[in-house]
Amino acid sequence: MMKITAVGGYKAVGRNMTGVSVGKETVAIDNGIRLDTLQMYDPDEVDVLAEKTVDELISMEIIPDMRRLKNVSAQVLSHGHLDHIGALSINRPRVPIISTHYTVDLCRKEYKEGNYYSMGYAEPHEISRDVSVEFFEVTHSIPFSSIVVLHTPEGDVIYASDFRLDNHSQIAKTDYKGLRRIASGNPRALIVESTRVWDEGKTSSESVVRSKLSDVMEFIDSGLIIATTFSTHVERIQAILDEAEKSGRTPLILGRSFSRQISIAEKFGILHLPPNAQVYATGKAVKRALSEIRNRDDYFLLVTGHQGEPESVISKIADGRLQFKLKKGDSAILCANTIPSPLNVATRYILETRLKSRGVRIFDNVHVSGHAAREDHRYLLNLLKPDHIVPCHGSLEMRTGYASLALEEGYEMNKNIHLLVNGGETEF
Ligand SMILES: [Zn+2]
Repeated sequence: MMKITAVGGYKAVGRNMTGVSVGKETVAIDNGIRLDTLQMYDPDEVDVLAEKTVDELISMEIIPDMRRLKNVSAQVLSHGHLDHIGALSINRPRVPIISTHYTVDLCRKEYKEGNYYSMGYAEPHEISRDVSVEFFEVTHSIPFSSIVVLHTPEGDVIYASDFRLDNHSQIAKTDYKGLRRIASGNPRALIVESTRVWDEGKTSSESVVRSKLSDVMEFIDSGLIIATTFSTHVERIQAILDEAEKSGRTPLILGRSFSRQISIAEKFGILHLPPNAQVYATGKAVKRALSEIRNRDDYFLLVTGHQGEPESVISKIADGRLQFKLKKGDSAILCANTIPSPLNVATRYILETRLKSRGVRIFDNVHVSGHAAREDHRYLLNLLKPDHIVPCHGSLEMRTGYASLALEEGYEMNKNIHLLVNGGETEF
């Protein structure tokens, strides 16, 4: 028998954690935070985490309750987004923490004292006598994302959260061949994200953002350009900086999270800054860099704040806190969607209203999602053909969407489709 425990991410998007138990042993997969809830309490995202106890953070629904898992032998991590790794520094697992080299580098910034083991793709690593883990490359919106496979005496457990199938990515490739190898063995269970399974069709490739972006850039001939995107989305940052370079402007990259992510991405050789690009992390340095701008037509700013977060650089510029004035004829390119939580909708609305009130032109939603849509999901399901399915990472409505897809493909509710809630478990 094998037991799957839903720890976090089985009620709303965020704070992901799933337990897989075989025999007396349990492997924890992911250890994330729920970012929108955290920001609701604390725009800086720091004080609440430092001041509240583990119990309080669990009851505030910010972190998963890891204590539900007994006899944990390893903590495995699928990729470096905070909703998958952000609770490490609070739950502080003492067992080996295993992921790809890049993800482990990101984790070290969150939780320094961890007992890390980093590894490459498609090379199994023994966790114990009975269980080993193997990572398969998959495309998503952060480099070195993985589909995690646990090899156990009861068969393989495949964990696919998060992914999209982008066959034109410039920095990643989905390992279809490796996944076919897993499918031809004993694929016992698929634990799979559900955030966009109600969206028909297939998620577009990142190459679509490249052409959207160059279309917008051709349209802008004067004024300051200020762009924002996800600091972890290295492929998109590269696309934005490539356009900045083509335009002949000087790129200024402003904000702490960009500076941190860029240094790791450069170390791994997956990001190449234009030679004249300048990066400023601290508030003081950002202010100084902005004060030196003379001719606005010569600059391209890449700044933090794609959701209009109040402490981000774009929000501080828009409300005048950095003593730099936006003017009529400047342009803002928002290379992100609004993540549909009430807080994000509100902060984005405030940001866009402030930008417009200063006469800034807004180019919104230069973006494609990092998550699989319905037909991507159907493709992966038919490729793997697992015995059992556990939809994860999503509200009940989202996970029901996955269940409806699985029903279409011949699976049966409560027989081999398992809808869980946080704290729930299933055995097969
Ligand atoms: Zn993700």
